[in-house]
Amino acid sequence: MSNTYKKLAVLGHPIAQSKSPLIHEYWIKKYGVEGAYGAIDIHPDDLEKDFGALITEGYTGLNVTAPHKETIRKYCDYFDDAAYEIGAVNTLHIKDDKLHGSNTDAYGFAMNLETSFPDFNWTKGPAVILGAGGAARAVAFALKEKNVPVMKICNRTIFKASNIAADMGGFVMPWEERREAIKNCNLLINTTSLGMVGKDSLDMKLDVLPHDAVVYDLVYAPLMTPFLLDAEARGNKVVTGIGMLLYQAQKAFETWYGILPDVDEDLRKIVLQ
Ligand code: NAP
Repeated sequence: MSNTYKKLAVLGHPIAQSKSPLIHEYWIKKYGVEGAYGAIDIHPDDLEKDFGALITEGYTGLNVTAPHKETIRKYCDYFDDAAYEIGAVNTLHIKDDKLHGSNTDAYGFAMNLETSFPDFNWTKGPAVILGAGGAARAVAFALKEKNVPVMKICNRTIFKASNIAADMGGFVMPWEERREAIKNCNLLINTTSLGMVGKDSLDMKLDVLPHDAVVYDLVYAPLMTPFLLDAEARGNKVVTGIGMLLYQAQKAFETWYGILPDVDEDLRKIVLQ
């Protein structure tokens, strides 16, 4: 464990909605380590100009969120495998003037499912990913790491699904065929922004989904989306998106402090307030 003071923050645009300061400040206090975690809003047009200044201000670590996860890679000296393969960085560790870029989203995705259902068998059958944006790439990487036998990716914009399938393996299914895609699936994941507060809901018929499939929504506002409520009503096990947020943060905190912090009930209550 390091007792050195760490200057930390999340970088994005916009950033006021980010829960990361709440999460990391909770752990800094709980574990009695030295540091402070803030939020930095940088417009994409100003990244080139403002990012260098940020480094000279003595930051030890940063979380990076939309829209900078891909563009920030050009400042990194090193990548971990996940950041390299996903093509996006969500955690920076600045050490000896070198920038280490990592991606903890895939870890967060998998840990959330495994802590919710410890008996879940990743290799039992196909997984279907709805969506092919940034979050879907991290999910696809996690599924590949877990040796999921078949991965199907359904997205409205087909070339984005094709890009993920080319990089991570898997099959592309047209958005219109998403009901067909889930027929024999073991894990169904919504990575689209549909169902989020202020967005349209996800139009997904679940009538052919096996009753023992796990249904996972990355959206966490609301916590129980209409998609998850439908799945729960027909007896499927469901996983909400909040744990992915907490576990990706857990790994980032470990990167900076060398402590793997607990994702406890008090923390869940704080972020869900
Ligand atoms: P993104 O890169 O903007 O991707 C958005 C995805 O939603 C794309 O696949 C897009 O399809 C699809 N989509 C949007 N509107 C649609 C519509 N009307 N019909 C069909 N598809 C539609 O966003 P992201 O970063 O991947 O994030 C996606 C969601 O995951 C967000 O709700 C975000 O909050 C959540 N998320 C949660 C966590 C967590 O920790 N729980 C982490 C990351 C992201 P097209 O490609 O066709 O546009």
